[in-house]
Amino acid sequence: VAKGAGKNQWRRYQSHLHSAMVERLELRSALDHAVNEGHFLLQFQPIVDLATDEAVGFEALVRWHHPQRGVIAPDEFIEVAEESGLIVPMGRWVLDQALHTVAQWRRILPRARQPYVSVNVSVRQFRQSGFVEQVKTSLEYAGVPARALMLEITETLLMGDDEQIWADLAVLQELGVRIAIDDFGTGYSSLGYLRQRPIDVLKIDKTFIDDMVGSEQQLALVAGIVSLARTLNLTVVAEGIEDATHRLILAQLGCPLGQGYYYSAPLDATEALAWLRNPLPLAVA
Ligand code: C2E
Ligand code: MG
Ligand code: MG
Ligand code: MG
Repeated sequence: VAKGAGKNQWRRYQSHLHSAMVERLELRSALDHAVNEGHFLLQFQPIVDLATDEAVGFEALVRWHHPQRGVIAPDEFIEVAEESGLIVPMGRWVLDQALHTVAQWRRILPRARQPYVSVNVSVRQFRQSGFVEQVKTSLEYAGVPARALMLEITETLLMGDDEQIWADLAVLQELGVRIAIDDFGTGYSSLGYLRQRPIDVLKIDKTFIDDMVGSEQQLALVAGIVSLARTLNLTVVAEGIEDATHRLILAQLGCPLGQGYYYSAPLDATEALAWLRNPLPLAVA
């Protein structure tokens, strides 16, 4: 009996594997199609000055607009896009579209209130040759200064000693592009690199903000990151601010910037512009 059951389990496991593989292949070919057809859209989440509640920038977040399934979140396709290399043409579109949108906003708004746009970039994009040139060309084409762009890279990118990536980041920083470490605190890199590498901004991962209220230890960690950043002359964005308590605590810790549902969910470009002109958090408005 045991043997028979084992065999059945094995078969079930194999057929599960098989369907998972088929699903992945299907996802990949649908994604390929989406890249060719341009079935993506961007949403923009305000990055807010915690002292004034005004947006200083927006994070561009990609969505797949699937003709049958509707809008699909990036967590469902970024990994496959990276594995397949489709992240490269998709990422190029994201960069161009984000810069095009921020250029429009900047033309409309007075200089003091012109926002930047923050774009997520995966390792694979950095590894392609000519990434720096691509960024330069996109900036010129959109007609915005390098200060209008921030690039977000995850900590894992930095754990390898890929000197070419660091050299490219240094060139971009020299141009005036801001470099942010995304999901800061979730990797396990040494902190030494923060001092030596071309980095402007740390984005504290949402998980730290989530647990901050209930746990003295988490609170101390967030406070530690904020003061570390200040020492190193880096700025900080807290991710995942969901309520007034989060915001108050972070402001008291001296955290300069934040983003999260308390201020706004990611918005379409026109909604984002409206928000820029009237930046009150929904809870107060
Ligand atoms: P991320 O860069 O850490 O982006 C923040 C994510 O947290 C976004 O999810 C955003 O909608 C969500 N979020 C913001 N505020 C809150 C909040 O208060 N509460 C909660 N629960 N969530 C909040 P989204 O848009 O689903 O993106 C997920 C991830 O996909 C991003 O994480 C980023 O790593 C990746 N991603 C998005 N767009 C791109 C892209 O254009 N290129 C690449 N390479 N990756 C992207
Ligand atoms: Mg990000
Ligand atoms: Mg993040
Ligand atoms: Mg995150």
